[in-house]
Amino acid sequence: MLRRSLRFLYRPCTTGRAIFQGYTTLSERAQIFLEGVRRSFTPGSAAVADVTLQVAHGELLALLGPSGCGKTTLLRLIAGLERPDAGAIWLAGRQVAGGGWVPPEQRRVGLVFQEYVLFPHLNVAENIGFGLSAISATAARARVVALLDLVGLADFGARRPHELSGGQQQRVALARALAPTPDVLLLDEPFSNLDAALRDDLRSALRAIVRAAGVTAIVVTHDRDEALALADRVAVMLAGSIVQVAPPRVVYTAPQSAAVAALVGDVTWLPATATGHSAVTPLGNVPLVTPAHGLVQVLLRPEMIHLAHDPQGVGTIRTLRYTGADQHVLVELPETDVVLHVRAPGDLPLAVGERVALWVDTALVAYPSVP
Ligand code: ATP
Repeated sequence: MLRRSLRFLYRPCTTGRAIFQGYTTLSERAQIFLEGVRRSFTPGSAAVADVTLQVAHGELLALLGPSGCGKTTLLRLIAGLERPDAGAIWLAGRQVAGGGWVPPEQRRVGLVFQEYVLFPHLNVAENIGFGLSAISATAARARVVALLDLVGLADFGARRPHELSGGQQQRVALARALAPTPDVLLLDEPFSNLDAALRDDLRSALRAIVRAAGVTAIVVTHDRDEALALADRVAVMLAGSIVQVAPPRVVYTAPQSAAVAALVGDVTWLPATATGHSAVTPLGNVPLVTPAHGLVQVLLRPEMIHLAHDPQGVGTIRTLRYTGADQHVLVELPETDVVLHVRAPGDLPLAVGERVALWVDTALVAYPSVP
């Protein structure tokens, strides 16, 4: 049923080849393409600075960055709610900004915001069907039914928004954004008003819906877990620039810089002397992912470090925080200034002040220096 509904809702993207000719770096499948996009609100500083980005057809990209780094402005530029000062934007192969201007309502973009912004006087089905005046009433009704099914609210069409939970309201907002079969779906912090359990649920639902619908989506978030759990690729934004775009696993294990490393997870920097494929560290010799030489810092994530009771061990437990499945342990290396964040199994009996042996058994990434 779901598959049939989706065939009805979505047609394949066939546009976009010709206009991209000449852009040798652009994937033929790019559905969103930004080239050198800049937007400044105050002289001398740019909210979005020279951003070049491509998102493939059907891809879900998370735009991750700290508050104020320019994420919403970038989304608004793609939607046509802001005009770039420089650069150009293509959506589904059509140039919409820079060398021409396509207004927001003609960009075939669906928007979902943090606030649910449903019409309170309309029921769920009417909310979803609100923007479907261009098609026949019968076709619109069928599309609303298919969308209710898609977002898991098949029995809720007659309810008013105030009779729904926050998560259900956000599903309606998602269905409404998908109703006019947009080429691109843009979501700005869509789950931040929801509690943690509901957020998890909706993340999975969103991934499944976007995947099933074959729509191209960008989700803005400042929540690293959300970005890593949700996206095909994560674009990390800092101070107006996109500094790394890569699959979640790559962003997490091989961040492009110390700043990106700290943004996407807990981190300990271990001073080391690299000698090609390995490095000498206070924890002993460790293998390196890529060869390096001289003084470096290696990146350690909490789950990369193993520990065991050992009265002769190099580390001393400073604090313990038990979370059930895991315990977060801070371990001092008395010979150095280093304090390691370690994630140990919850059932391992540990005590503050105890000496422990520490080791890693994966290759690590080395960085020339860390501020
Ligand atoms: P948050 O996660 O807090 O929503 P963000 O990463 O989405 O932040 P933006 O809202 O894009 O960041 O803002 C980027 C910068 O541009 C900020 O310094 C912000 O104050 C500024 N800014 C955004 N919109 C405007 C505006 N209309 N006028 C002036 N400055 C603006």
